[in-house]
Amino acid sequence: MLKKVDSKIYSLIQKEKERQKESVRLIPSENYVSKAVLEATGSVLTNKYSEGYSKKRYYEGQEFIDSIEEVAIARAKKLFKVDHVNVQPYSGSPANLAAYLALVPVGEKIMGMSLPHGGHLTHGWKVSASAKFWKPVQYVVDKKTNLLDYDAIYRLAKKEKPRIIVAGATAYPRKIDFKKFKEVADKVGAYFMADMAHIAGLVAGGVHQSPVSYADIITTTTHKSLRGPRGAMILCNKKYAKAVDRAVFPGLQGGPHNNTTAAIAVALKEASGVGFKKYAKQVVENARILAKELLGYGFNLVTGGTDNHLILIDMTNKSLSGKQMAMALARAGIYCNANTVPYDKRSPFDPSGIRIGTPAVTTLGMKEKEMGLIAGWIKRVSENVDNKNELEKIHKKVKGLCSDFKITGIN
Ligand SMILES: *Cc1c(COP(=O)(O)O)cnc(C)c1O
Repeated sequence: MLKKVDSKIYSLIQKEKERQKESVRLIPSENYVSKAVLEATGSVLTNKYSEGYSKKRYYEGQEFIDSIEEVAIARAKKLFKVDHVNVQPYSGSPANLAAYLALVPVGEKIMGMSLPHGGHLTHGWKVSASAKFWKPVQYVVDKKTNLLDYDAIYRLAKKEKPRIIVAGATAYPRKIDFKKFKEVADKVGAYFMADMAHIAGLVAGGVHQSPVSYADIITTTTHKSLRGPRGAMILCNKKYAKAVDRAVFPGLQGGPHNNTTAAIAVALKEASGVGFKKYAKQVVENARILAKELLGYGFNLVTGGTDNHLILIDMTNKSLSGKQMAMALARAGIYCNANTVPYDKRSPFDPSGIRIGTPAVTTLGMKEKEMGLIAGWIKRVSENVDNKNELEKIHKKVKGLCSDFKITGIN
């Protein structure tokens, strides 16, 4: 139908589909959803307005929508073992704003991880609304180890007295100790918020400590390692349920995206199965293997490796910038993103590092052998960033590998 109505958009979608099929996608925040999730996302639920919450809507005709939202909430509560879940945030960024809005009066201090050190924009980075509506305090990683330094975080919190401390990252290759964050927050009388957007799938799969018994409030996207549609959730203790729900609607948003809610429910069902536990374990295992291979090729991995799903590589010792490397990799059909490394001497527009991760390739079914191949190609690309021929040759091999793996969502 789309082909007939709008051949231009149809053809662009087809091209993007091919691109996703034929490339090695190492952007750690991306994934492939299942056909079931895709079907729910593209359903007629997009036609319905449902401002409010189940049984308390502002429009009629909600009997099925209410059930869908209730199922999504029940599944999230069960999977993550929490009291209360709001599945309406449009995405991770508005979920974070809603979390602050729920707990911290506007103008008060929020403390999060600095963006160039691995934090997210919405953790108080200066150009973000989070830093305009609230007063940001930013912690950084240790200069020597590039690891979170919980004592330094405590000292900063003690001095600044933030109302909320946020743990969570977009470019931190190690595990986060939520228990330690909670101790710091308790000592300074702050709320503790965990933003598990990147690692929600690892938490669901039991391969990363869950923030659930420690954090007052947890935000997460649903489309990264959790392998759902683009969306988000806020998880919290009963105590904050009302404040959270009010902050999302009517505080920040209007009607929820019901098609997304349904797809989140489907993704949560998938994430509750034994297969997902295996997946999460393999994501971490693949990252570990990839890191080991890359270290063998002389790449400088921030913190010396990884124990989650992502790897941050400082390209300085290869005499390349992150952007140069990321662009060359893309030409070879391997997608990642240029990323700052802690204490980066280059600009955020052309930083020193690249960030790669394994959630998407693991969904395809890739394992140790493929990680070895990918590491080898990354090395070859780094030695041939300006060699079109060589990049083209690697691209052919990448396509060959991808054709061996069926993509559940888009085949
Ligand atoms: C991706 C991410 C977000 C934002 O999610 P969007 O859906 O892009 O708005 C917030 N926090 C963290 C830690 C993330 O990784």
